[in-house]
Amino acid sequence: MFKFLLDIFAPKKCYSCNKEWNFLCEKCLSNMSNFSPICYVCKDKSNNFEVHKNCQQDVYYDKIILLSHYKNIAISKLIKDLKFYQKRDISEDFWLYLSRLFLDNEIYKNTDDYIIVFPPMWFIKKLKRWYNHSELMAKIVSKDLWIKIESKLIKKVKKTRQQSKLNKEERMNNLNDSFILNDKKIINKHNKIVIIIDDVISTWSTINEMSKLFKKSWYKKIIWLIIASD
Ligand SMILES: [Zn+2]
Ligand SMILES: [Zn+2]
Repeated sequence: MFKFLLDIFAPKKCYSCNKEWNFLCEKCLSNMSNFSPICYVCKDKSNNFEVHKNCQQDVYYDKIILLSHYKNIAISKLIKDLKFYQKRDISEDFWLYLSRLFLDNEIYKNTDDYIIVFPPMWFIKKLKRWYNHSELMAKIVSKDLWIKIESKLIKKVKKTRQQSKLNKEERMNNLNDSFILNDKKIINKHNKIVIIIDDVISTWSTINEMSKLFKKSWYKKIIWLIIASD
């Protein structure tokens, strides 16, 4: 308990070099082997992380913008502390970097063409953890980019088991019908580009199934903005 309080009130320190001020300093971030833009289907180079034309079959997202690799020790520790150990401030640092990364990889003129969403958490899990870390991050990015956040757009209607513990068939069944879109209030959705914000790519099928939900509902384009993938 004492250590927990100390952690909360201690000054921010870089997880990689211990320099004060940020949880991840600019220098360490730029020294990490960050993702160069790839198509997250074939994993080959691609402009601005766009899925190649030839890779689009049964793929429902348009690009997955990634900051870093989960195998990086500082990154994986930061994500764990953000998710499980109440270190909410970490989200601010990450999203400074992620907003910038988004701007580097998406040319936009009109912020009204976009909406920001995040994967919802089953309410009991949220009660246990006190917060949804993806929601925290989405709120900060929304402020930073001046893009409206739609917190109630995706609804979780069924408890899902952890994807990584299931086989392929179980994964698909686990996800089917577990989310719905509550989008009656979204005006002009056919012209909207959806930015979905999350910490890691847990499994490809999770990402694709959620993207499918939006594409089936005729949203124009789906972009994921993610901290880390392996
Ligand atoms: Zn550092
Ligand atoms: Zn490709």
